[in-house]
This record gives sequence, structure tokens and C-alpha cells, in this order.
Amino acid sequence: MSLLVKGFAAKAVGQPLEPFTYESAQLGEQEVRVSITHCGVCYTDIQGMEDHYGIVTFPFVPGHEIVGTVSEVGRAVSGLKEGDRVGIGWQGRSCMHCEYCLRGEEQLCVDIGNCGTWEPYGGFAASVVVDGRFAYPLPAGMPSEVAAVLMCAGISVYSPLRAYAAKGSPKVAVAGVGGLGHLALQFAHAFGCEVTAISSSPGKKKQALKFGADHFILADEDSLRQVRLNYDLLLYTSHGKSDWTSLLYSLKTNGRLAVVGFPDDQVMFDPLELVVHQFSMTGSFIGSRAGMQEMLAFAQAHGIAPKLELMPMSQANEAVLKVSQNRARYRIVLVNDLVPV
Ligand SMILES: [Zn+2]
Ligand SMILES: [Zn+2]
Repeated sequence: MSLLVKGFAAKAVGQPLEPFTYESAQLGEQEVRVSITHCGVCYTDIQGMEDHYGIVTFPFVPGHEIVGTVSEVGRAVSGLKEGDRVGIGWQGRSCMHCEYCLRGEEQLCVDIGNCGTWEPYGGFAASVVVDGRFAYPLPAGMPSEVAAVLMCAGISVYSPLRAYAAKGSPKVAVAGVGGLGHLALQFAHAFGCEVTAISSSPGKKKQALKFGADHFILADEDSLRQVRLNYDLLLYTSHGKSDWTSLLYSLKTNGRLAVVGFPDDQVMFDPLELVVHQFSMTGSFIGSRAGMQEMLAFAQAHGIAPKLELMPMSQANEAVLKVSQNRARYRIVLVNDLVPV
């Protein structure tokens, strides 16, 4: 039985969102339908609307920070039942048999371009269909809007901090105090790190310290020169242009620069410094299924929560505009006012 689902879609590259109804196919054996209550707006949704990655099809329904209630369950799904509250992030499925999937790094699946929750249609809608193994039961007591943001922004910063900063109380710097960065400051603080926030906005100092930063510095050449050879890990969460050389030199010898998010920039630096200081540069992409569950439990235990504002889903366009103009403080979550299915 097919179902008509209402949502909001961009009909072509660079077009605004407009009401859109699509016919949802019958569930696959491993799939669940989730009736959406909340969906966060991520910068990646906006880059998707611009087809920045070349992987989306139009009409494109964005949305991949989803919380909702399981409303239909495929025959082979285990561990989920109708009525369960779940969260869903950017990844909604994977091949489950490539070498990465087999060792529990599903986010690195060789077919990752076809694994998005956006496929065929994302979370700015009444419901979404994903593989049930990528729908995560949420801790009781965690507000749905909080969980929504953790599903992408949360896991994206948790994974590299867990991998490179969770042991030995290292000195960590977080470049960018925005949607990702303000969560990174909270996670790094909870991991026991000495945390520095690096931002180009002096006005963000007070809040950065509230989020868990021990220090705040401006992202200019002079300020960065004063913290030369200082950090074990620098987590880059911004999506603008940056002085990569100064950022890199702020690392200690053997230090690591981890990039999350997708900066519209070319990374430039002198390889000599990379070699003599044995710097590492790492990308980090969302997280695994196991990492997602661990992150949710950790966030709940440590009271980690995004600072956000709620908007009705019918104002998805206004929300997208606000995020694209960097006016969200620090995240927007759409509350569904569409008829649930
Ligand atoms: Zn995202
Ligand atoms: Zn795979």
C-alpha cells in the first residue's frame, strides 16, 4: 500500500522550498516509517539544496536531524515497534556488507553517496522511511528538539573528540563557535579536556565560556601566533574561509587537526611544518551506529544540549534562510505542523 506524504521540497538547484506531496513506496523488509515530530536544520541541508555534493536528486526534501515516532515496521526489523520514539541522522541505510560496514564503520560505507536519509526524501516532511538499523531509540527524558540536533551536529563533533581527545586530558581547541562548535565545546569539556574556543566574533566569548571553554581567542593571525605549538587537537567546525597556516601552527608537535563540516575553502599550508612537527590532518564524518548510541547516552549523562530555537515546519524556508545567513543561535529545529502520517 502506498501512502501520500506531505513535505517541503526544492524543485531544482537553488530554488526555495515549497509544499510538495510524494507517494511513498511500500516498506522494505528492514525499513521503518517514522512519523516526524521534529527536524533540525543543518548547514548541509542548504548545501544539498545547492547540490554542492552532486549527490541529491530534485525535487529535494532536505532534513536529516529527525526525531519522531515509529508508525510502521518492516517484516525483518528487530528491536523497534510502532510508537517507539527514535532519532535519525544523516545516514539512513548502508550496504551492510562492505569492509567498513562489516567492521562497524557504516559511515564509511563504499556506497555512502546513496546512504543518505535524504534518499529518496528527507525530514522536512510528515514522515520518513529509513533502514530500521539507523533509527535510534532515544534516552527517556531527553527532549526531542535536543535529540534532533544531536543526530547530526552532535555525532559529527562527538566522533573525533571521542577518538582523539577522550583520554589523557589533552588541550583541545575548537575553531568556530556555531552549530557544531558550541556542542564541541560542551563535549570536550565533559571529556575533561582543557578547552579553547577560537572564533572570529568577539561577541561569542561569553557564551563560549558558558558552553565549557576555559579560554577564548580570536581567529586572527596575531592571536593565533600567541598560541603557537599549544594544542593536542584542533577541531575545525567552521564553514567559512580560514588562516589554515596559523591554525596548523597552533598545534603541538604530534598534534592533530580534525576537520568536520565542509568549509568552502582550500586548505593551504607549508608542508615543511607538517613534517618537522609531525602534524596529522584528519577528516571526520558523522559516526557509526555504535557511536551514535554511545553519544546519546553520553550527552544524556552529562546534560549536553544544543542552544536552539524552535520554528514551525511550515516556516522551513525562513529557517533555511536564517541558517544560510548565519543568523541562527545556534541551531534551529522545526516542529512539525503537518498532518502526521
Ligand atoms: Zn547535518
Ligand atoms: Zn557498506
